[in-house]
Amino acid sequence: MSEGLPPLVDTHCHLVLLEERGLLGEALEGASAAGVEEIISVGLNLDDSDRNRRIAEEHPGVYFTCGWHPHEPVPPDTHQLDSLAELLGHPKAVAVGEVGLDLFFRPGYHEVPLDVQQRSFRAMLELAAAAGKPVLIHDRDAHDEVLAAVEQVPGSRGIMHCFSGDAAFARRCADRGFIASFSGIVTFPRSDPIQDAARIVADDGFVVETDSPFLSPVPQRGKPNLPERVAITAAAVARLRGASLEEVRAATTRTAHRVLGIATPRTVAGRA
Ligand SMILES: [Zn+2]
Ligand SMILES: [Zn+2]
Repeated sequence: MSEGLPPLVDTHCHLVLLEERGLLGEALEGASAAGVEEIISVGLNLDDSDRNRRIAEEHPGVYFTCGWHPHEPVPPDTHQLDSLAELLGHPKAVAVGEVGLDLFFRPGYHEVPLDVQQRSFRAMLELAAAAGKPVLIHDRDAHDEVLAAVEQVPGSRGIMHCFSGDAAFARRCADRGFIASFSGIVTFPRSDPIQDAARIVADDGFVVETDSPFLSPVPQRGKPNLPERVAITAAAVARLRGASLEEVRAATTRTAHRVLGIATPRTVAGRA
């Protein structure tokens, strides 16, 4: 299926959670077979980030991030922030994330008050700015609040993961140094505003992700998601843009490398 196509990067997935489900081997083999040559495995807190570090150390194409998810019940303390900063110095740590704000409050999903989330987010934005690293932002029903927080920390830049806004919000993000990352949501019914955003973002202004094990795209919806399915999302975005699959795969990989500071690997086929 990926024969002769440019390689892809899954810019956001959770390999620790796939490992817990006994799916790590399948995830990595499937990714490789689908031409997904690099995977960014995203941390949810200090312990989870460190577990992602271990997986990244064991697998050449895997990178990791240092995060503090908005569902964390309390902000990181000084000691935890120091540990996250130290972890961020690892050669395979490419970003701070995921961090952000989540105003979709539901019992059993999360009920962390906004002010707690804002303190966590602020601390992590400052950590990223101090380290000169990009940020992977989780924004659920919190578009304005997220941009307000980002504006308070100069030097913030990065990726709006699982982009869920419309075309106008994509432009506002781009103006503030944040590109969109499209997930399987772009293939779901009733995602017209997100599809509009996928049509209008600049060729070098977006990437693709799975957020696996969550958010499996159509036609795999309902099953645990896997990094290989980032190819389905890339194909959906290509169709929306009237672009070729080759163009979208090559552009998103170049953009992921640029934003995340990954040196472009030279493969045996001589691709740049
Ligand atoms: Zn998220
Ligand atoms: Zn995630």
